[in-house]
Amino acid sequence: MYDPQNIFAKILREEIPCKKVYEDQFSLAFHDIHPQAPVHVLVIPKGDYMSLDDFSAFAPPADVAGFFKAVGTVARELGLVEGGYRILANHGVNGGQEVPHFHIHILGGKSLGRMVA
Ligand code: 5GP
Repeated sequence: MYDPQNIFAKILREEIPCKKVYEDQFSLAFHDIHPQAPVHVLVIPKGDYMSLDDFSAFAPPADVAGFFKAVGTVARELGLVEGGYRILANHGVNGGQEVPHFHIHILGGKSLGRMVA
């Protein structure tokens, strides 16, 4: 069950602040509070989805398309295309997911090395 008290739901409701970098009808993007790279931005859908699992299974196709187009837009607007960047999404315990609202990490601004340590 989706927990409406998770921290990203509170950010979407503007109950707690974030350093917003982008917003449209499908998504909100903001800087990660504990950046793991010189640029570390999170992109979240506006619907109540816990991870890629329920988002990919249940979100309307237009929302999926709109969300992933927003991820690309954010990376471009952050100036990451030329130098390169990484996106990742964690699901569940083995994925190390901490916040149960679907989010894509965008990481860049330096060479990120191997995909998995
Ligand atoms: P996960 O491990 O769930 O994929 O990633 C959750 C991310 O959310 C972490 O990188 C963590 O630093 C970030 N985070 C946790 N709480 C907050 C918060 O209150 N504000 C922001 N901007 N990021 C947060």
